[in-house]
Amino acid sequence: MPELPEVETTKNALAKGIGCCRILDACVFENRLRISIPDDFKQRILHASILSYTRIAKYIVIKLSNNLDIICHLGMSGKFKLSYQNPPYREKHDHVFIFTENGTLIFNDPRRFGLLTYIENSQLSNSSFFAKLGLDPFSPNLSPQYLWEKLKNKNIPIKVALLDQSIIAGIGNIYASEILFDAHISPLRIAHDISLKECYFLIESTKKILQKAIDAGGSTLRDYHKPDGSEGYFQFMHCVYNKTGQPCINCSCHLNETGGIQKIVQAGRSSFYCATKQK
Ligand SMILES: [Zn+2]
Repeated sequence: MPELPEVETTKNALAKGIGCCRILDACVFENRLRISIPDDFKQRILHASILSYTRIAKYIVIKLSNNLDIICHLGMSGKFKLSYQNPPYREKHDHVFIFTENGTLIFNDPRRFGLLTYIENSQLSNSSFFAKLGLDPFSPNLSPQYLWEKLKNKNIPIKVALLDQSIIAGIGNIYASEILFDAHISPLRIAHDISLKECYFLIESTKKILQKAIDAGGSTLRDYHKPDGSEGYFQFMHCVYNKTGQPCINCSCHLNETGGIQKIVQAGRSSFYCATKQK
């Protein structure tokens, strides 16, 4: 599932590969996504110019010159592809083509949990998509005090709290495990027991791990618009995620005694951790 680093990488790839230019045409082949693409999507975006690309949590917002924003979420399996062929070749699960002066933006989503719609600029901040979101991991307002206040009444494991988008918006399942490993905090700890100092470490680890992943994604950008459809997503070097039974990096645990990295299920999602390093 695309997480914040993949979304940031995708957003940067769109800005670099298509940039600011005019939308010439659009074609919706399949509108049944998580929420149906509006019937007038094409009419509303036609001939507008793209002014900017931003990321809000795991949403990509494409600002247009006609006071609309295109809002996109990659869902479980969505991705954008760029094509510079005319006409672009349509592959399986390519649901939308947006033709611009600088190439074609293609939304592809095999499982169709993604989202592609538009909204009036003025409605953006109070739209239902963003209204309940907590702070972005890179927001300057994300302080240890903010996190501690949010956690202090929560009687749930810290791993589950990190996935709560109303606290920090954009941490997904893979990075929640990686962040807790980096911060030396067990996923089993109850949120209200996390100290202010540990909140500081959690925020530091969150920024560090996500930035590393974004940087790693950035390095594959040059492959992003291969016509063969190779993806811009990177294989991030995970320390614990999906590493059950393996020793953790720089860990002094004795594998025979500890069994290596543990896998547990919390709120229906897998968590991976080193019980020796993470307390
Ligand atoms: Zn270990």
